[in-house]
Amino acid sequence: MHPLNIPLHILNTDKPAPAPAHATQEGKLFDAHGRQIRDLRLSITDRCNFRCVYCMEPDVKYIPKMQLLTLDEYVRVIKVAISLGMNKLRITGGEPTLYPHLDELLEQVGKLGLKDIALTTNGSNIKKQWATRWKKLGLNRVTVSLDTLRPERKDAITRSKTSLNTVIESIDALRDAGLTPVKVNAVVIRGVNDDEAIDFADFAQEHEIDMRMIEFMPLDAGKRWEKRHVVSANELLERIKTKHDVIREVDAKTSTSMNYRFTKGGGRIGFIASVSEAFCGACDRMRMMADGTLRPCLFSDEEWSIRPLLRNSASDDALRQFFRDALWQKSAGHGMDRDDFKRPEKTMSRIGG
Ligand code: SAM
Ligand code: SF4
Ligand code: SF4
Repeated sequence: MHPLNIPLHILNTDKPAPAPAHATQEGKLFDAHGRQIRDLRLSITDRCNFRCVYCMEPDVKYIPKMQLLTLDEYVRVIKVAISLGMNKLRITGGEPTLYPHLDELLEQVGKLGLKDIALTTNGSNIKKQWATRWKKLGLNRVTVSLDTLRPERKDAITRSKTSLNTVIESIDALRDAGLTPVKVNAVVIRGVNDDEAIDFADFAQEHEIDMRMIEFMPLDAGKRWEKRHVVSANELLERIKTKHDVIREVDAKTSTSMNYRFTKGGGRIGFIASVSEAFCGACDRMRMMADGTLRPCLFSDEEWSIRPLLRNSASDDALRQFFRDALWQKSAGHGMDRDDFKRPEKTMSRIGG
């Protein structure tokens, strides 16, 4: 029973509080902090063939299949997002290359006129012909996760048998297919792989890719994150400068990374300082999980499911209103520096990175 003596089953707990009328400008999506939301991060599966120590545990419980959105539902959500002025899409997971309809999704989404379509993958098995096909279907860029350049460490961090060489071959295949710039992400954890900062910079030059070092965030299923595990972007940059001369790039206002090029040679390095230098002020992202749960902020457990609307013949206008109402609740920032900070309940593999 609700405190007002109303049976709970008739209450709609899925619906966010409505945004005030002045919150919306025709065709655009704003939050209560004046940020326009343009970047949809869509998780198309919570399944994964890796069990990275900073993300998933071996005994992970997956979302029941019935609750996952269908291909048509993903496409509808993307179309509605576009009608609200969103122009960037990142397809993620879980491991999105395990999604059985990835090609069909790219084929349909590639025709919708988005400014940028990107995909994030663990690079466990990407063949040159796939990369070429994805490029033809409209995919613009791919980001690959690779946390170490040492084979034995790779096995221990990802708890998988996929070899380091396989991932490097995937990176080269993606670059050769023109899915550029290929960005390679490494989550840096003190005492695990922080001794590889210079190797990462060498790797960026050698393979002519953007190598980005991410600060470890409290989103691991094992709940082992502690502040002392975080290696700040600044510390990593100082280490790299002992070998390389680098120049700061002029980054886009909404960029999550601080990027540097080398004075000599190709490739770039970047730092995603989510913990030490939060970039929430310019955040233009929203996330949709594989089961249709809309999560306006990565670090806030406030979220709502669009699935009941999709499965009960709601109009596009109703879906647009749902987006507006939900995004109006988007947190100003993650608040990790506050004493009352609470780590999110869900993990990165579930929310979508
Ligand atoms: N499976 C794909 C992959 O690994 O690239 C896509 C999904 S994964 C959840 C997306 C990104 O989240 C990856 O770059 C991964 O390194 C990052 N990630 C996962 N857990 C993290 C954590 N606790 N802190 C920082 N980044 C994390
Ligand atoms: Fe899988 Fe990506 Fe999470 Fe690693 S980071 S466990 S590859 S979802
Ligand atoms: Fe955006 Fe929230 Fe991430 Fe900050 S913590 S960058 S507001 S999603």
